[in-house]
Amino acid sequence: MDINEIIAIDEKNYMPVFGKRYGICFEKGEGNRLYDTNGKSYVDFLGGIAVNALGYSDEGFKKAIHEQVDKLLHTSNYFYVKSQAKAAEIACELTGMDRAFFSNSGAEANEGALKLARKYFYNKGEPRSKVITMKNSFHGRTLATLSATGQEAYQKPYAPLLSEFVHVPFGDIDAIIENMDENTCAVMIEPIIGEGGVHVMPAKYLMEIRELCDKFGALLIFDEIQTGMGRTGHFLASQALGVKGDIVTLAKALGGGIPVGVFLATQEVASAFSQGDHGSTFGGNHIATAAALYMLEATGSEGMLKDVKTKGEYLKAALEDIRFDLTAITQIRGMGLMLGAQLSDEVVAADVIKALHKKGYIIGSAAGNTLRFVPPYTITIAEIDGLCEALTKIVLQ
Ligand SMILES: *Cc1c(COP(=O)(O)O)cnc(C)c1O
Repeated sequence: MDINEIIAIDEKNYMPVFGKRYGICFEKGEGNRLYDTNGKSYVDFLGGIAVNALGYSDEGFKKAIHEQVDKLLHTSNYFYVKSQAKAAEIACELTGMDRAFFSNSGAEANEGALKLARKYFYNKGEPRSKVITMKNSFHGRTLATLSATGQEAYQKPYAPLLSEFVHVPFGDIDAIIENMDENTCAVMIEPIIGEGGVHVMPAKYLMEIRELCDKFGALLIFDEIQTGMGRTGHFLASQALGVKGDIVTLAKALGGGIPVGVFLATQEVASAFSQGDHGSTFGGNHIATAAALYMLEATGSEGMLKDVKTKGEYLKAALEDIRFDLTAITQIRGMGLMLGAQLSDEVVAADVIKALHKKGYIIGSAAGNTLRFVPPYTITIAEIDGLCEALTKIVLQ
């Protein structure tokens, strides 16, 4: 089937929420390369939006999934699931948390985190509902996580949303202080704002939030759906920034392409859940957690984290060089292999992305005219050099 037929069928049958997509359909991936239906190949710096952390042909990952497919996909949570138990153990170890619950997506992991936070205060006999989140944050598309998301454009058509969310400008500790009281259930924050433009939260700011949460007995929820799984060269970005949350959520790279999320909590918080308080038909099933188990072990290994750090620093330095030479890029932000290049007003991110497609590179964008780089951790120095060369040529024009 050629690309035009695919486009025609999609545009007739699929809900039009993705607008006019890029006119490309991929058929195959290998290494860090994607191949489209015309056989053209692209080096991938988007990684399915920070999902494909091991690229496209990790033999161990494919074997883990194949073997699980041959054995069993799903049995329900009435029964014990070996890979679920093992993945939970490793996820707890890597995050420094005590208990885990697997969901089917990032939004669902955040939903679970918010429910757990509420249940924690309900159990104490002093229910709290207010949750402080950041303006320009992104926490998902379900009604609760959309309410948490600090972006009006996504929210407006669905009003009224849950009213308990207060959105404050990130980096502004006074705005948090103003909203901290005996009804504050939690502060929910991405240690690096992802969709909202790749902004690293200062360590001092997160530490102050931690102290305020402790002072008011509120919970700190780190949404590490994009920043976790070793993306920054540390297993969690909050670990890199030196602050521990009470609840942490992961998804995206957790399944390496199999849909799975997880929320984790300290023993004290997690013990607020008892039988019947939460659940999921698919959540944590054999195939999803076989994938998660492999991805956790691979991305949490010391060698991998070191590799991400080295390559991230290399890519950042290369982008800084371009910024220094050319006016099209005004700032480079981020950490590890989660980087953003702020474009000047004269340059449009979507145009740069399409020009890069022509040159055989896939990259993403984020809010505020930002190019976003979230490549597989397997990306090579030569591939980084190639991208930077192509990018330089494009923004020079
Ligand atoms: C992608 C993302 C989500 C939503 O995850 P889904 O799997 O799309 O539901 C939530 N929070 C952050 C920080 C994300 O990057």
